[in-house]
Amino acid sequence: MHLDFSPEDLAFQQEVRAFIAENYPAELRGKQDEGDELSKEDFLSWHKVLAKKGWVAPAWPVEYGGTGWTATQRYIWSEETARADCIRLMPFGLSMVGPVIYTFGTPEQKAKFLPRILSGEDWWCQGYSEPGSGSDLASLRTKAVRDGDHYVVNGQKTWTTMAQHADWGFFLVRTDPDAKQQEGISFLLIDMKTPGIEVRPIITLGGEHEVNEVWLEDVRVPVDQRVYEENKGWTCAKFLLAHERTGIAGVAASKRGIEKVKTIARAEMDGDKPLIANAFFKRKIAELEMDLTALEFTELRSLAGESAGKGPGPESSLLKIKGSEIQQRLTELTLEAVGHYGAPYFRGFGEGDNEHPIGPDYAHRAAPSYFNTRKTTIYGGSNEIQRNIIAKMVLGL
Ligand SMILES: Cc1cc2nc3c(=O)[nH]c(=O)nc-3n(C[C@H](O)[C@H](O)[C@H](O)COP(=O)(O)OP(=O)(O)OC[C@H]3O[C@@H](n4cnc5c(N)ncnc54)[C@H](O)[C@@H]3O)c2cc1C
Repeated sequence: MHLDFSPEDLAFQQEVRAFIAENYPAELRGKQDEGDELSKEDFLSWHKVLAKKGWVAPAWPVEYGGTGWTATQRYIWSEETARADCIRLMPFGLSMVGPVIYTFGTPEQKAKFLPRILSGEDWWCQGYSEPGSGSDLASLRTKAVRDGDHYVVNGQKTWTTMAQHADWGFFLVRTDPDAKQQEGISFLLIDMKTPGIEVRPIITLGGEHEVNEVWLEDVRVPVDQRVYEENKGWTCAKFLLAHERTGIAGVAASKRGIEKVKTIARAEMDGDKPLIANAFFKRKIAELEMDLTALEFTELRSLAGESAGKGPGPESSLLKIKGSEIQQRLTELTLEAVGHYGAPYFRGFGEGDNEHPIGPDYAHRAAPSYFNTRKTTIYGGSNEIQRNIIAKMVLGL
């Protein structure tokens, strides 16, 4: 594996840097600097800039709207967007259901849904988990019964991220209650405006409305919105999860996060010296940086595998475990660094709050980010489950 960028890659890096500098929405940058909660429109503003340029889905095949970049160019892209503090695009369309549709969908499904994912016209949510069916996903009970050219869906999903904004959702439903668990599931695309769908908010530890319950009562879904064969939805579900887990590693964003912690630790005082001079704190930063460097090389190996035509396999579980643990440690260190300035924000900023922020700007998101990041070892399949996957599929235990 060569680690030096070629002259072409370096030129590409410059092109990307210049593009971000000229095109990243100034209003969005302002909100990020202030530590404000971002709206759907904020997320879409950067998405739309990238869609116009043709850079919104680097990993997709070119025929469906991908960039055709090499794995190295994709790596440079994620490095540069993190370095410039660009927001991460919503993954549900671009990284999850998009790849499922172009891999398993019918020509009609590809023509209908893929362009709208790219343009940002459709915002997607993921209807996998249910109360009682998270780790044991295949036990899900939301059922779909065939009625002519429709399915009638009844059940409840939970932890559905950003469903309050979603135009469409991809749902796992049970279509054969008598088959073995994994063999009776289908993968449906459901218009979130269909009568019978109710989205109820769940407010998280940091005071944010990010996740929801989704209730489905006699929801009629045309059969042509099923992806792949009836009762074979588990194949799509697993394919999607491997893609989801690789994306969760977030190496480039964590590298940027470490730089931010260092900046804070240079500004904050520990007695009469900057915090960064404290040997204990310095050691924590160094340990985190070493673990992140090791993860980065693991990710590069996985990217090299992808360049050689291997898709993300069970090793993506390893990237998920280490990446999510590092994200948590990073927010712990940030909260430690801002010290008492973090305290007023334990509940974040509520909608409509107009109190004057206290303390330096970098302190405002420290507590909400700390609480929010507790999720990373749970979602996308908990880390305990990832360890089980590694034991079975990678180590053959
Ligand atoms: C913030 C957030 C956002 C989410 N967004 C979405 C979303 O958009 N769409 C969606 O479908 N889902 C979403 N999820 C759900 C997520 O995928 C599940 O929470 C996750 O799969 C764990 O399932 P569970 O919560 O039911 O916990 P459980 O499965 O009940 O697990 C509870 C605990 O037991 C452990 N455990 C369970 N089984 C085993 C085992 N066999 N071996 C060892 N340990 C085990 C788990 O690791 C965990 O610590 C989200 C979750 C969170 C927290």
